[in-house]
Amino acid sequence: MRYSQLFGKTSKTVASDADSINAKLLTQGGFIQKEISGVYNYLPLGLRVLTKIQNIVREEMNRVGGQEILMPALTQEDSWKTTGRNAMDVLFHLKGQGDTDLVLNPTHEEVVTPLVQKYTFSYRDLPAAVYQIQNKFRNEARAKSGLLRGREFNMKDLYSFHVDEEDLNRYYEIVKQAYFKIYDRLGLGDITVLTFASGGAFSQFSHEFQTINSNGEDTIYLCSKCHIAVNKEIIDTQKTCPECGNDKLEAVKATEVGNIFKLRTKFSKAFNFYYSDKDGQDKIVEMGCYGFGPSRTMGTIVEICNDDKGIIWPAAIAPYQVHLVGLDLFDETIKTQAEKLYQDLLDKNIEVLFDDRVDVTAGAKFADADLIGNPVRLVISKRSLDKGGIELKNRNEDTSEILSVDNLLTKF
Ligand code: ATP
Ligand code: MG
Repeated sequence: MRYSQLFGKTSKTVASDADSINAKLLTQGGFIQKEISGVYNYLPLGLRVLTKIQNIVREEMNRVGGQEILMPALTQEDSWKTTGRNAMDVLFHLKGQGDTDLVLNPTHEEVVTPLVQKYTFSYRDLPAAVYQIQNKFRNEARAKSGLLRGREFNMKDLYSFHVDEEDLNRYYEIVKQAYFKIYDRLGLGDITVLTFASGGAFSQFSHEFQTINSNGEDTIYLCSKCHIAVNKEIIDTQKTCPECGNDKLEAVKATEVGNIFKLRTKFSKAFNFYYSDKDGQDKIVEMGCYGFGPSRTMGTIVEICNDDKGIIWPAAIAPYQVHLVGLDLFDETIKTQAEKLYQDLLDKNIEVLFDDRVDVTAGAKFADADLIGNPVRLVISKRSLDKGGIELKNRNEDTSEILSVDNLLTKF
């Protein structure tokens, strides 16, 4: 991609209503643009990052047998009356034609349960696991902190359906492991902790995945022995680690980036979702749900991975792997070499953002590269060519090296 053609530009000034690091840096870097409070446009750079996060999640969900579907954002309010959740304070209500009552879904149990029920008759149809990656709508009282708490936000939600509790427990553990894998791949593995939370009426615990960071909205209580934590609800009822009984739990700030829950029969009961077992007896279906917030995770990563110059993306989700800065491009011989290098990198299937602007100073180009935060910066200039090639600098390091073009291309 040529920077000169890129839709969305960096900005030197900070939006006056940017109330967090992620809102500030993502807006300044040209990743997102606020529409209204808690609702954002994703510009090309931002969408590339979001899509990469979603694809990592998608791969891990497919690996545990999840099948991707897409459910509607809009649905009839009646389904919410069936479960008694129509009074939920975050629900957006709308009126359809003929005065019908509609809602914008804040989560999808009310849609997925009757949907899967339509295709489930006997034990042979179970277990089943479906997921989607889609926007949710919640009329949050305090939409804030950029992508961390939106009113429209992106979620991956997986739902699983089982013949009995034992099979639900088996699958729940598999998904839990898949979540660890996702956070590892996102570069958050070391700072993301399994956090015991209230399980509601049907099970003792649910589990949150909390990413430790000083700007986190939640406080969790960490057991250093087990590398797990409990959330506020749990610490109020028990003061010890649920795994080892340790009573020296450390309070730390964190952001909830995922949440898995054994729903058990809460929704299958509401919708009368039974299957017939091997003996032809009707049995209630057991359910689990597994949420992950791609947009909140994107914001959280920015909260953690930055310095005073801008964002430092983990390579797995950076918008581009390489930010190629061309300097002295008014000089035809340098321009030709820069264009060739850009083409050579593209030919090697490397994702490159090529700053091909002729009328912008070196300082401004470097500032933009730092702000946008791609992992590798390459500079081709009169000076670098005089020194024998191309300057390579990693975003998270201060030092750079000069490499010949041939050497450079073997690096990727
Ligand atoms: P919270 O406790 O932060 O309000 P929640 O427990 O209601 O969130 P879930 O319904 O479990 O969240 O949603 C699954 C995931 O979706 C969360 O773990 C989080 O990553 C993400 N998420 C939830 N609410 C928001 C929001 N308002 N903005 C962005 N992401 C969100
Ligand atoms: Mg929560």
